[in-house]
Amino acid sequence: MRLLLLILTTPFLLQDPTPRPGYDDTPRLPGQEWRVHDLKRPYPIVVKPGKNVGDAPSDALILFDGTNLDAWMTPDGEAPTWKLVDGAMVVAGNAEVQTKASFGDSQLHVEWASPADRSGDSQGMGNSGVFLMGLYEIQVLDTWNNTSYADGTAGAIYGQFPPSANVCRPSGEWQTYDILFTAPKFSESGDLDSPATVTLLHNGVLVHHNRELLGPTVHRTLPPGGAHAEKLPVKLQNHGDPVRYRNLWIRSLD
Ligand code: MG
Repeated sequence: MRLLLLILTTPFLLQDPTPRPGYDDTPRLPGQEWRVHDLKRPYPIVVKPGKNVGDAPSDALILFDGTNLDAWMTPDGEAPTWKLVDGAMVVAGNAEVQTKASFGDSQLHVEWASPADRSGDSQGMGNSGVFLMGLYEIQVLDTWNNTSYADGTAGAIYGQFPPSANVCRPSGEWQTYDILFTAPKFSESGDLDSPATVTLLHNGVLVHHNRELLGPTVHRTLPPGGAHAEKLPVKLQNHGDPVRYRNLWIRSLD
């Protein structure tokens, strides 16, 4: 009986779930190959979100989970000089760190904390940075009761655009960056077809919305032009301050 039931129901179990609800007689959407409510339109892939906001979703590449620095190296390809302390990676030594993998368009989650023991001022207080493609810096700085130039504050696109708000937490507290990055596109002849863009939420607050970058990050001068690879590593800046990082993950969007 059980076997008979299985034989009878198998065709239904194997049956494609289509037709789904939808329409095939509606107008085509401008600029798309699909109709309004198109029943043949591919369904979104299933991604399991993290349990809590900020946790990595199922399709993210984990860059740092508190246990090792395996995803990182120095720009020279050596083992990182940074320290692993209490589940955080801490700026140390004289080298920066960059991911072994390269990325273009991406969603990047970063948690950072400036030193609780405040020292220095302006750009000398809790300075580090998240360099998208190793070229475009989202500034990390202790901007809690610490003034500096506006385009160098926490959440600034360094040297180009201040964040729309200073939402820096007190020294030593963990903070989040959620970054949506579009890589610049270049023609075959090396001309810029479309600039890099950044959307940034600092501690959940939108501070850059689809900001078009002027070029790679530089200090005290204007960004240079010039084409570069479609994908490059994420780099974290070593500015000599023991800034901590944790829970780093990335989703490639291209
Ligand atoms: Mg910096």
